[in-house]
Amino acid sequence: MKTTKYDISVIIPIFNEEDSLELLVNRLIPVLKLLGSHEIIFVNDGSSDKSESILDAFGQECPNIIKVIHLRTNCGKSIALRCGFREASGELIVMMDADLQDNHEEIPKLVNYLRQNKLDMVTGWKFNRYDPASKRLPSRLFNYVVCRFSGLKIHDFNCGLKVMHHECLKDLRLYGQLHRFLVVLIARQGFKVGECKVEHSPRKYGHSKYGAKRIYEGLMDFLTIFFLTRYQQSPLYFFGFYGLLCFLFSFLYGAFFVGLHFFSLFTHYPQGHLSQHPLWLLSPVIFLAGIIFIFFGLIGELIYYIFSIQLNQNYIQRQVGFGQKSEKE
Ligand code: UDP
Ligand code: MG
Repeated sequence: MKTTKYDISVIIPIFNEEDSLELLVNRLIPVLKLLGSHEIIFVNDGSSDKSESILDAFGQECPNIIKVIHLRTNCGKSIALRCGFREASGELIVMMDADLQDNHEEIPKLVNYLRQNKLDMVTGWKFNRYDPASKRLPSRLFNYVVCRFSGLKIHDFNCGLKVMHHECLKDLRLYGQLHRFLVVLIARQGFKVGECKVEHSPRKYGHSKYGAKRIYEGLMDFLTIFFLTRYQQSPLYFFGFYGLLCFLFSFLYGAFFVGLHFFSLFTHYPQGHLSQHPLWLLSPVIFLAGIIFIFFGLIGELIYYIFSIQLNQNYIQRQVGFGQKSEKE
């Protein structure tokens, strides 16, 4: 991330939103003027409509305020946000959608809420949501599951409107659809997150860019986040658990059949003989699965060990007694 130059940077990912753009800019600029120095960074995520030329025209009209990044192809909202975050130089970063569903007038409210509650990030809570039921219901389930597993008391993890301090984004690696877990990823680094109710509007132009596959993708991404946030630094703890479970199960299962075998020898009970029970073979198979689990864990440890040298993670909040240079590195 760049050093801070503005009070606020607004990052807006765009994928085929030609009809909304003019209204969006006209609404946004007066609101941002009240909040101090600002920049708006549009990230055109490979749009195939007129968004590209409209955005270029905005950039030429207001070169000091509006900046535009064009991606070569449609890379997804996470990558678009990531490109915008990298270029942002605001003390506070606002992210919002371009489809006019997020109300621009809620930005000052979120900024005040963040400051008053001394939070590092605040996310909008679409209390009265104007989306079809086919989107609201999976979203409810998603929020319930993420809330349970993350332990964060947030009702709406995936609201497009969020405000955060620029430090929150220093060590963030968004890809795929991980923007849905932005709050979790930031909270896991120790930043204070909260939420504030915001107004939501129905989509006025165009259509949602996400269909039913968002349920499947959300589930898979959740597994990634669950794994990364809990076991990134110790993958062997995760894989080792299942490895040991396999060993235990394999031992008990094998012991039962061996016991039965000896029982059949001493009691002349032929049905207990190992040759009568091919299922005993499951025991060595499960044992092998246990070994594979442990080895996966060890490979995970090796990968983390090698890359941990490059991971400049954002753990330090502040330091005392190191002179001026020692502020948040
Ligand atoms: N978007 C994007 N790249 C994509 C899909 C969406 O930049 O591949 C942008 C889109 O233009 C909008 C925001 O992400 O500004 C949210 O998209 P959408 O409104 O379709 O999502 P929904 O509100 O249905 O969750
Ligand atoms: Mg939308």
